[in-house]
Amino acid sequence: MKYDYLIVGSGLFGSIFAYEATKRNKKCLVIDKRSHIGGNIYTKEVEGIQVHEYGAHIFHTSNQEVWDYINQFATFNRYTNSPIARYGNEIYNMPFNMNTFNKMWGVITPQEAKAKIEAQIQEAGITEPKNLEEQAISLVGQDIYEKLVKGYTQKQWGKPCTELPPFIIKRLPVRFTYDNNYFNDLYQGIPIGGYTQIIEKMLSGSEVRLNCDFFEHRETLTKEADKIVFTGMIDQYYDYCYGTLEYRSLRFETEVLDMDNYQGNAVVNYNEYEVPYTRIIEHKHFEFGTQPKTVITREYPVTWKAGMEPYYPMNDEKNNTLYQKYLRLAAEENNVIFGGRLGLYQYFDMHHVIAKALECVKKELID
Ligand SMILES: Cc1cc2nc3c(=O)[nH]c(=O)nc-3n(C[C@H](O)[C@H](O)[C@H](O)COP(=O)(O)OP(=O)(O)OC[C@H]3O[C@@H](n4cnc5c(N)ncnc54)[C@H](O)[C@@H]3O)c2cc1C
Repeated sequence: MKYDYLIVGSGLFGSIFAYEATKRNKKCLVIDKRSHIGGNIYTKEVEGIQVHEYGAHIFHTSNQEVWDYINQFATFNRYTNSPIARYGNEIYNMPFNMNTFNKMWGVITPQEAKAKIEAQIQEAGITEPKNLEEQAISLVGQDIYEKLVKGYTQKQWGKPCTELPPFIIKRLPVRFTYDNNYFNDLYQGIPIGGYTQIIEKMLSGSEVRLNCDFFEHRETLTKEADKIVFTGMIDQYYDYCYGTLEYRSLRFETEVLDMDNYQGNAVVNYNEYEVPYTRIIEHKHFEFGTQPKTVITREYPVTWKAGMEPYYPMNDEKNNTLYQKYLRLAAEENNVIFGGRLGLYQYFDMHHVIAKALECVKKELID
């Protein structure tokens, strides 16, 4: 059997490519080393609730083409991302906005909130931040830093903020309106019935092999197709010849609870350092569920080691320089296309991945 394309990875990037290629009468073999399709957007039904197995996935975009494209495959609900942050028994709205400032200081007007933040920034007197702590205080002042930035960031990176470089936080969006909507995008929502159905539709014209790691069958698989679309780790593709790219990883702990509503919101961040997880997701609230039970997931940041799930590329100078070396090797390839967050070594939201995949389709299949 000879395929036009071997697509390594059944995540969003690989699946869009497969869909567009099969639409143009190309034969595609899609493989994934996991036991399911969908990559990190995979959702699974538990107790009638769509569980986001790899962390909360909220679709948002301002790109009309991307929005129209994804809407072919699912109907999106009106879910609006409005996470809340818990610090001890205090609850704050995110992103930082007038509701947050009112709770923190009792201020009512934007002028009062601005004056409060400005006074704290002035008091700190930091002109050249030397670390993340100084950077955050110079942007939002001491109170917001202490309760809403410090512990969370320390857990996320596994280091005190005083030992983290300032560039990690370039800006901390502050909103002087009573608006709890996290995203500024034109469109957002959750696909009714979860994300997996989207991928199923995209892959309906392709042959799919699960539990199939490219590197275990590299020689035979490569012979089966004219070209490869590779959405795994680019450094692994080249046998780590220049060294290993680094990532941040996560551990998810999921529990079914015999109650109908655990925390009253889909996403609750835990900002104290003493609480070991960074957030709890209550999945049913993504789809306004009324099931008698509920499913929650605690998310723990984990320092990545080889062999762990590589969730977030670490796009610092050292890793980006290393990636550039792999990119030069990739540019020499005639029959291999690298795509997705691991192939391009970049953190992408779903809308970015769709745009990148459509760009790749245009170049490879249309132009
Ligand atoms: C915790 C978390 C939360 C997120 N939240 C959001 C959000 O709210 N909104 C948003 O827009 N985006 C979010 N994202 C980003 C979103 O998950 C990605 O944009 C998208 O899933 C990337 O798709 P992909 O196809 O590039 O990669 P992936 O989904 O990672 O797919 C790659 C696939 O390749 C497979 N693979 C890798 N190596 C091999 C191999 N050697 N052999 C066979 N198969 C292989 C993997 O098993 C995987 O299935 C989040 C990401 C994470 C990690």
